[in-house]
Amino acid sequence: MNKAAEKMECGLCPHGCRLAPGQKGLCGTRINQEGTIHSISYGQITSLALDPIEKKPLYHFCPGSYILSLGSFGCNMKCPFCQNHEISQKGMEVVQGQLSPADLRDIALKTAREGGSIGVAFTYNEPLLNYEYLLEVAPLLKECGQKVVLVTNGQIMEKPLGRLLPHVDAMNIDLKVFSEDGYKWMGGDFTTVKNTIAASVRAGIHVELTTLVIPEVNDEPAMMEEEAKWIRSLDKSIPLHLSRYFPRYRLRTEATPITVLEKLQTVAGKYLDYVYLGNV
Ligand code: SF4
Repeated sequence: MNKAAEKMECGLCPHGCRLAPGQKGLCGTRINQEGTIHSISYGQITSLALDPIEKKPLYHFCPGSYILSLGSFGCNMKCPFCQNHEISQKGMEVVQGQLSPADLRDIALKTAREGGSIGVAFTYNEPLLNYEYLLEVAPLLKECGQKVVLVTNGQIMEKPLGRLLPHVDAMNIDLKVFSEDGYKWMGGDFTTVKNTIAASVRAGIHVELTTLVIPEVNDEPAMMEEEAKWIRSLDKSIPLHLSRYFPRYRLRTEATPITVLEKLQTVAGKYLDYVYLGNV
């Protein structure tokens, strides 16, 4: 059979989309183009800003510094409360421009000279979907002494993750909820995120974790206790950020009471050295 007419499997994330010729994956960023999986979002930029590193959030990695932060479009999860749905659930129509790996390196170096940036954070939408771009640009940045930071949902298979990790300095990984059912509701896979966190820690990457606390989704102390125990089993000095949810996108549940966040901070703090509250 002609390869160009066959279905192709994208092995990047746990969805494992089998794509007919011309068909896009669930993330909207990858397509079967004449028998190969092609990244539509390669080098496509929707936002570029110089942010404090604490905004990622990373509190224990180069504190007080600034980092050039870049977003593209698309996501392989479908969280009904997405804070960045204007780019994560959209396509090429939201693109502002294109940057080759060399272009981005040059902008990063200029921003380092003129704005004191320490490197580039791939953030705002799900950066791992731009996998081929990351594999090219991250080594270029590191050769020039620039830091490479990923802010990610961790939904990537172990093999492609393993190729990328040597080029990454720090990650903030969402641990959105500590249950398989919760991840299913958000269109993701619980085992995969745990594997990504564990592999990144094992690889010596600086890792911080974020849980957006949503009423009736992940605000039970017992669930937080399980989460904190699991993080501790990797390393009790991994910082955990408990972020306050506000109604966004399709979810209309009221904002998380601060008292709930404080309670969960106390619970997690029994097991972990650093538990921070965000968005409060
Ligand atoms: S990266 Fe996109 S196309 Fe590939 S398996 Fe995941 S959702 Fe499907």
